[in-house]
Amino acid sequence: MKLTTPFRDPELARAQLSLIQQIVADYDGTMTLMEVCGTHTMAIYQHGIRALLPEKIRLISGPGCPVCVTPVDYVDHAVALARRAGTIITTFGDMIRVPGSSSSLIREQATGAQVKIVYSPLDAVAIAENNPESEVVFLGVGFETTTPTIAGAVLTAAQKGLKNFSVLTSHKTMPAPMAALISDPELQVDGYICPAHVSAIIGSDAYKPLVDTYKVAAVITGFEPLDMLQGIAMLAKQIVSGEAKVETQYRRVVKPEGNQKAREILYKVFQPCSARWRGIGDIPDSGLELRPEYSAFNAATKLPVEVEEPREHAGCLCGEILKGKVRPTDCKLFKTVCTPEDPVGACMVSSEGTCAAEYKYG
Ligand code: SF4
Repeated sequence: MKLTTPFRDPELARAQLSLIQQIVADYDGTMTLMEVCGTHTMAIYQHGIRALLPEKIRLISGPGCPVCVTPVDYVDHAVALARRAGTIITTFGDMIRVPGSSSSLIREQATGAQVKIVYSPLDAVAIAENNPESEVVFLGVGFETTTPTIAGAVLTAAQKGLKNFSVLTSHKTMPAPMAALISDPELQVDGYICPAHVSAIIGSDAYKPLVDTYKVAAVITGFEPLDMLQGIAMLAKQIVSGEAKVETQYRRVVKPEGNQKAREILYKVFQPCSARWRGIGDIPDSGLELRPEYSAFNAATKLPVEVEEPREHAGCLCGEILKGKVRPTDCKLFKTVCTPEDPVGACMVSSEGTCAAEYKYG
């Protein structure tokens, strides 16, 4: 028996759906729930959860896919570094295919640039060790789930005295973008399906200021179908009863205090900063930059390059999709010009992207 089997039991799922129906039966209007994590987006599409819910519950996708929210100027910067003589770009897989303004890393690789996919930032450190004549740049993209491993790589490189390893940072943090989106009157989010993996690091207590300030319902939810249905039931119950609090459905993993050890490593190397999110813009305290004592590992200052003026792709609605304002099917390029094989925007590239999810399961 797979470990996930109990969380996919059809009988239990039917019981949860019936509970959700009962909770919203007398609710006047429609409640809007936003899932903030790309893995939730994929799970919602994969298990057809949207279609199972009562019409009174509207699910919208938010800015939780790290590759999707990375702005085009960052991709252009990575492309410029890939063109720099003697530079090796190392990255997790999805970033290589994200289109920049006029190129992408995979296109640069095809024309001779050294772009290598790695499965851990420590692999990038090993590449730097084995190639002392080259500058090795790791593309630091991701939320609090991946950033501790990148901090660990920087610490390792520092211990080894490596002078040819650096990180081009575009780290993002939660829950600042959730506060930015809740202030948008067009969206009117009633409840957040909070990310599971990120919450394992930051802890459920991290959402309390958001909930207290904006009086929004929030439930940290797991990824299996029963997790999702239970999390939605908990949110619906809060909204119907006019409550706004942080609850954790995913208690088998997430603790109120999160993972202090991971945060210690993270904040030893990085500090909070303002960050630019694709489609949303600059959000204060929503990113992480290297602390001054680790500035020798900052690729942006260590390896100056000319970066082209950023240009979004005409017709691509990624920015609006990441704010939950439109669906992939609203984009004229969806499935016609833009496909996973030939993506126009980041949301079609990433394995957690909304357009990729709609293409695969929609
Ligand atoms: Fe952008 Fe393609 Fe999605 Fe349209 S379908 S919004 S072009 S990624």
